[in-house]
Amino acid sequence: MITGRHYINGQWTDGESGETRDILNPYDASVVARVSEGGRAETRAAIAAAREAFDNGGWPQTPASERGRLVFKLAELIERDREELARLESIDTGKTVEESRWDMDDIAGIFRYFAGLADKDGGEVIDSPVPDSTSTVVREPVGVCGQISPWNYPLLQASWKMAPALAAGCTIVMKPSEITPLTTIKVTELAEEAGFPKGVVNTVLGPGPEVGAELSENTDVDLISFTGGIATGKTIMRAAASNVKKVALELGGKNPNIIFDDADLELAVDYALNGVFFHAGQICSAGARILVQEGIHDRFVAALKARMERITVGNGFDEKTQMGPLISAEHLAKVESYVDIANKEGAKLLLGGCRPDDPALQDGYFYMPTLFAECENHMRIVQEEVFGPVITIERFASEKEVIERANSTIYGLSAGFWTRDPDRMERVSKALRFGTVWVNDFNVYFVQAPWGGYKQSGLGRELGRIGLEEYTEVKHVFRNHATTALNWFGA
Ligand code: NAD
Repeated sequence: MITGRHYINGQWTDGESGETRDILNPYDASVVARVSEGGRAETRAAIAAAREAFDNGGWPQTPASERGRLVFKLAELIERDREELARLESIDTGKTVEESRWDMDDIAGIFRYFAGLADKDGGEVIDSPVPDSTSTVVREPVGVCGQISPWNYPLLQASWKMAPALAAGCTIVMKPSEITPLTTIKVTELAEEAGFPKGVVNTVLGPGPEVGAELSENTDVDLISFTGGIATGKTIMRAAASNVKKVALELGGKNPNIIFDDADLELAVDYALNGVFFHAGQICSAGARILVQEGIHDRFVAALKARMERITVGNGFDEKTQMGPLISAEHLAKVESYVDIANKEGAKLLLGGCRPDDPALQDGYFYMPTLFAECENHMRIVQEEVFGPVITIERFASEKEVIERANSTIYGLSAGFWTRDPDRMERVSKALRFGTVWVNDFNVYFVQAPWGGYKQSGLGRELGRIGLEEYTEVKHVFRNHATTALNWFGA
């Protein structure tokens, strides 16, 4: 049995309560690990350790190149233990081990990128309008950071937060999702091995309304970074008002994938699958809302359905499997309820809409790839995030109409569209109000490019240079060299 504990002030601990939580494998609901379950007491202890390490431990004053060296070392250790990490991620989430390996390579790259950036910003001398003076703008670490990650990409989402925070000179208290903590625990072990000073990296395990709420409310935390659902994001934002802490939010999405008549049909169908079915559609940027122009509509839908029928659902550790289960019984029930809603709303079910028949998959949280056609803009199945292997198809006539419809959502995380017309590429990418727009592609992320949402999909950006800047405060230092008095108020 795999076990895991909190890591607070350089010590592994069961916490005050000594309580534990069983971690289930979504493939068959078997218990695969038992980890400590903390609450407010453990979180306060971790915050105090991070505060001390920031205020008196010398971490922010450590040369940025040395901080970068440690972050780089962590990247190397992640690469060394890639296979173990990938298997832990798949046991915990059910996703295919091949997807998890891909995540681990991505994650090592994220730590390497921010390690490299750590010492690249030496501040800037700006032009001062005051004679005999110098004016410098420097970036300094923001302080103690609470970091809350979700269950869908547990370590990937954690790494988007840990790597820039540590490179910037912040100290952190990481809280993984209580149902998928295993890879975050392992990476905390690797951070210890890399040699981060005590109190710089802390990890507390436990439920959101306890551990996450304490991190959001506690006035010793300077920044809270959260990835998860909108409702939780709003709660965190309200709690963060306690000391006006900096807030970074990566929330949900309902991401349109628009297929114009002149699209390359075969490619558009192929990428539409990539847009949705990784990790059974449990992706914030899933292109689950597909809008298809009249002229290509029927051919696109027929080709998509044919490809979806061939998706192999099963055990993520089986090489033939292309799609694993949903994360939990609760989440499966949520996806099923959305399918009921869609049926009642009058969407036309073309495929799926049920659990698999395979007797071997009955204990897990599996759901079949599902396709609804003839959907309308106002339907809940179109407007709300299902977070499962469910695609809706809407038909449209003109470019103007589809832009209006694609933008008519509370979300603004990502969007994609398919066309061969270069002028349309320009027009449509400008008109779409989303943090990322893909032209003739879907779901491409890399650490060099910023990621985040317009509207209610979030606040701030992760990844890219801006992802490091989020963990800094900007200070203007003005130095007067003049030796003569102003005598404004008389000599
Ligand atoms: P969630 O909001 O239920 O939980 C996310 C995290 O918040 C967990 O660690 C949870 O314990 C914690 N939490 C719960 N209640 C809390 C509270 N009151 N205070 C503080 N923390 C609390 O989300 P989830 O179900 O784990 O993840 C799915 C959601 O995440 C989806 O909406 C998805 O779109 C979003 N997501 C967004 C991105 C992005 O980059 N924008 C990436 C991945 C996931």
